[in-house]
Amino acid sequence: MSSPSDVLVVGAGAAGLAVVESLRRKGYRGQITLLGEEAGVPYDRPPLSKQVLAGTWDAERTHLRTRDVLDSLDAEFVFGDRALALDAATRTVHTESGAELAAEAIVLATGLHARRLPGLSGAAGVHVLRTLDDAARLRGELLEADRVVVVGDGVLGAEIAATARLMGATVTLAGPQAAPMQAQLGHEIARLLAALHIEHGVRLRPDTLVEALDTADGRVTGVRPVDGATIPADLVVSAVGGAPA
Ligand SMILES: Cc1cc2nc3c(=O)[nH]c(=O)nc-3n(C[C@H](O)[C@H](O)[C@H](O)COP(=O)(O)OP(=O)(O)OC[C@H]3O[C@@H](n4cnc5c(N)ncnc54)[C@H](O)[C@@H]3O)c2cc1C
Repeated sequence: MSSPSDVLVVGAGAAGLAVVESLRRKGYRGQITLLGEEAGVPYDRPPLSKQVLAGTWDAERTHLRTRDVLDSLDAEFVFGDRALALDAATRTVHTESGAELAAEAIVLATGLHARRLPGLSGAAGVHVLRTLDDAARLRGELLEADRVVVVGDGVLGAEIAATARLMGATVTLAGPQAAPMQAQLGHEIARLLAALHIEHGVRLRPDTLVEALDTADGRVTGVRPVDGATIPADLVVSAVGGAPA
């Protein structure tokens, strides 16, 4: 076991980094460790579905702080290792690499993972978007795709559909609501958003609950709504919300 920290923050997203920065800003001098499962420095997720997917920003532009600024926090950064278990009695976190990180205080800031529906996983050509790696993979395939179906008519689904359309694909946005983002915007504004999507060439499939994929040779060929005909696709993005990591 490495020597114990005073504070261990698990999760190196915006929240985890903010904890470290706030402690230092308020004069805390103890030893701090920030543990994150992704290999790189903390980054901002909002540009992933917009500038990064569209290719107008490179990955570095999303970084929340430069390496120099991180170093000035005088914390230990452990990136690329995943916390597997917390032993609350000994205040020790066990990680995937076999490390045991003990601390006086442990902050859990592990955020969300993309929710994956059982019927919408397990085939090539099916994507979620939560990380920089997801964005790079999705962008790579979007550049080659003809028929894209985005499943999920919330904020993320609406953004991905708009960006994919800008990239030139034929895009269908399918979800259970009468109009995209209706839960967030209400009926009237969501109707205007739907009109804007249509004006830009996005095909909308409202009132559509998708339950399964059609595949051939392990690759997606379409999505199957609970009722109605299969919607053909060579690329599917599942944007059906997040679950606590
Ligand atoms: C594509 C996309 C677009 C978005 N756009 C917007 C927007 O336009 N406006 C807006 O307000 N919000 C947007 N959001 C939401 C916003 O990004 C989140 O609210 C924000 O990321 C929450 O930060 P967080 O640090 O709490 O969690 P997260 O960003 O989820 O960070 C948690 C970190 O913990 C790490 N972690 C998880 N489990 C472990 C483990 N076991 N061990 C070690 N590390 C672990 C993860 O790798 C991650 O780096 C968007 C999100 C996405 C995915």
